[in-house]
Amino acid sequence: MLKIKKGGVHPQDEKKSTAGKKIEFLPVPSRLFIPLRQHIGEPAVPVVKVGDIVKKGQMIAESPDGRGTPVHSSTSGKVAETGNCMHPIYGLSPCIVIESDGLDEWQENLLTERSYENINVPELIDIIFKNGIVGMGGAAFPTHIKLSPPKDKKIDMLIVNGAECEPYLTSDYRMMIEFPDEIIKGILIVMKILNINKCFIGIEDNKPEAIRLMTEKCKGTPIQVAELETRYPQGAEKMMIKVITGREVPSGKLPMDVGCVVQNVSTLKAVTDAVEKNIPLIERVVTVAGKTVQSPKNLMVRIGSTFKDMFEYCGGFSGKNGKIIMGGPMMGMAQVNVDSAVIKAASGIVAIAEDDVDYQTERACIRCGRCVEACTMGLRPNILSILSEKGQHQTAQTDYDLMDCVECGCCYYVCPARRTIVHYIRQSKAKNSMLRAASKTGSK
Ligand code: SF4
Ligand code: SF4
Repeated sequence: MLKIKKGGVHPQDEKKSTAGKKIEFLPVPSRLFIPLRQHIGEPAVPVVKVGDIVKKGQMIAESPDGRGTPVHSSTSGKVAETGNCMHPIYGLSPCIVIESDGLDEWQENLLTERSYENINVPELIDIIFKNGIVGMGGAAFPTHIKLSPPKDKKIDMLIVNGAECEPYLTSDYRMMIEFPDEIIKGILIVMKILNINKCFIGIEDNKPEAIRLMTEKCKGTPIQVAELETRYPQGAEKMMIKVITGREVPSGKLPMDVGCVVQNVSTLKAVTDAVEKNIPLIERVVTVAGKTVQSPKNLMVRIGSTFKDMFEYCGGFSGKNGKIIMGGPMMGMAQVNVDSAVIKAASGIVAIAEDDVDYQTERACIRCGRCVEACTMGLRPNILSILSEKGQHQTAQTDYDLMDCVECGCCYYVCPARRTIVHYIRQSKAKNSMLRAASKTGSK
């Protein structure tokens, strides 16, 4: 086993309340609000209409050009509405509302038993596409596209992300403890698709039981476990590649440019379900945690359940919340309310007690340099934030590698002036992308 150490920050991990608890199944809610936008890019296009009867696992929206993924019904019932629902990232967004019939009946042609060894590579990729698999670690990039790199990119290594470095989150940890065989099978499927024989599973050393179990399960396979120092943001793709392989993804480039593909452990379990059982991605494990949550848990949740459904199942709240976040507190998205629907990328929902929310107002940069020291991407966050304030967004990009920022939040975490550096960086990225779009269409 490799022993690897490298940069970052050390927030309190807050994982104790859920790490030791077995995954529980959230009962299917009477209404599921299934968002059609499950990944970056265009939403899926509905293929059902109000009043249609649907089965569990039936495709209800398609991706006609194959650049996205289809969406499936998470239970059996009736299409009650098509319209907008609260999306945890995009706000009001198109969705299909399924009214459950309480039977939870699978569509007929699903649940077939088959071995990936008897399926050829183009067929494997097609199965992954048709079953709506996306990256479940947060980025939600369509998996069939990630597994189809251009011919000139020579991939020789798969990196499996089991780091789960965000505070509170333990859903990937529970997946490794409860579904190790399915994860290993998913790795072997992906290695077959990429035609490679090298793979490392990166796990932080605050998860000794997962390291022990995965190491045991990897015996006799070409897969190795890489034990990583517990240090946020160890799970960021570029950082993980660097600490495990020593390869540095150049500015503006992707993991495939250094021969790597990165996949999250939960995605690999979904790949196995799709390939060997023809089960589409209709549920996932979500950590429900935070100081005010009565009984924090990891829940297996149908896509389209609401955050409210999950908090209620966990006994509601014992105090006043200052913030609800989808994902972890470092990189997660603050929510307007608890009506948001679970999407395929939702690894956790965290309630931050009112007393714990940092309401300090931001002050001028005192040039202490702490953010520069904390930035794992080797950027100068202080300068990026100042350039953004001054509206010099393009300079931030051309001279200070703005686009390399992975928005991990380490700079904000250490900043004594409480400067909302990530907010400034996102603003600059958005302005530059608007300028690029405008220059393409010729508008000013
Ligand atoms: S500048 Fe970006 S990558 Fe660097 S610490 Fe801040 S958020 Fe993370
Ligand atoms: S940590 Fe904050 S105050 Fe210190 S240099 Fe960075 S932005 Fe300025």
